[in-house]
Amino acid sequence: MIVDVHTHLPSHEFKVPESEIRYENAMKSGSGQPTKLTNSVEEYLEAFKNVDKTFIFGIAPKPWNKNEEILSSPGWGKDLNQNDIASKVASYAPEKIIPFMSLHPMDPDIENEYYRCVNGLKLKGIKLGPNYQDFHPLSIEAMKLYSKLERDNIPIIFHQGTSPVTNAPLDYAHPKHIDKIAMVFPNLKIILAHLAHPWQPDCMSVVRKHKNVFADVSAQFYRPWSFWNGLNLFNEWGVIDKILFGSDWPITTPDETKEKLMGLLSYSKKYNLPLIPEEAIEGIINRDAISILDIII
Ligand SMILES: [Zn+2]
Repeated sequence: MIVDVHTHLPSHEFKVPESEIRYENAMKSGSGQPTKLTNSVEEYLEAFKNVDKTFIFGIAPKPWNKNEEILSSPGWGKDLNQNDIASKVASYAPEKIIPFMSLHPMDPDIENEYYRCVNGLKLKGIKLGPNYQDFHPLSIEAMKLYSKLERDNIPIIFHQGTSPVTNAPLDYAHPKHIDKIAMVFPNLKIILAHLAHPWQPDCMSVVRKHKNVFADVSAQFYRPWSFWNGLNLFNEWGVIDKILFGSDWPITTPDETKEKLMGLLSYSKKYNLPLIPEEAIEGIINRDAISILDIII
C-alpha cells in the first residue's frame, strides 16, 4: 500500500483558466525546475492514480494577516477556508483522500474551528507550518493545541526545514523545538516534513529519540546529494524505518518521488557511495502510515 502523507490542496476546483496559471522558481532552487502552483482537482486525482491513500491539507493563515497565503487556493468559493477545501477535495475520492485540518494557535476562534474540523468535517490530522504561520512551536498557545491533539489522537505534520519565504522565521521550522514537544506529549504522533532539509542530522536526532516522531521523505530528490545523505544518515543510525512516503504535491509528484527513491541504488553505484539497502527503500515507499499514525478512517 502506498500512502502519500504530504500533499497540498489543488489551487482550483475546476480547470484552471489560462490567465490564472502560475509558476514559481524559488521552491526547487538549484534544480533548474520551476514549480507549477496552479492545479485542478482533476489534476490532483490524475497525479495520485498510482497511490492508495493521500493526506491533504492547506495551511491556516495568520489571524492578523488572512490575505497572506502560502500556496493559495484562488479557484475555490470565497466562503471556504483551507479546512472546507480539504474536506471538499476528499469528497471527490473518499476512499483515497484523507483530509487534514490546519489551524493557527493564535486564532481567537480556534476552539470552534477545532470542534468543527474534528466533529463536523471529520478531518483526521493537522498540518502546521510554524514558520509560515509565524508562531513559536513552543508557545503556550501552541502547547495547548498539542494537548488537545494528543487527547484526541490526532497526528500532526509539521513543516520542517528551510523555505524560500522571506518573512517565515527559519528558527520556528527547526526540529530542535520538536524534541521538547515530544517530551511533553509522548503519545502525540508527529511527522517532521522533508527530513527537515537541510537539517537532516537534527531531524534524525529527534526521530531516533522519540517513539512517536517520524519524518517524511517529500521534496528531497531534486537535490540528489542532500537526498542521498539524508537517507544514508537515517540508515546508519537505524531509523530509516521511521521515514514515511510523501511527495509534497504539487512541488513534486508521487510517481517521480518513487522513481527517484528507487534510483538511489544506481546513484550510490555511480558515485561509489555506500548503498542504501533496497529493502529500506521499498519500506519507505510501502509504509502504512495510516496504521502507524493510528488513523481510523
Ligand atoms: Zn509541503
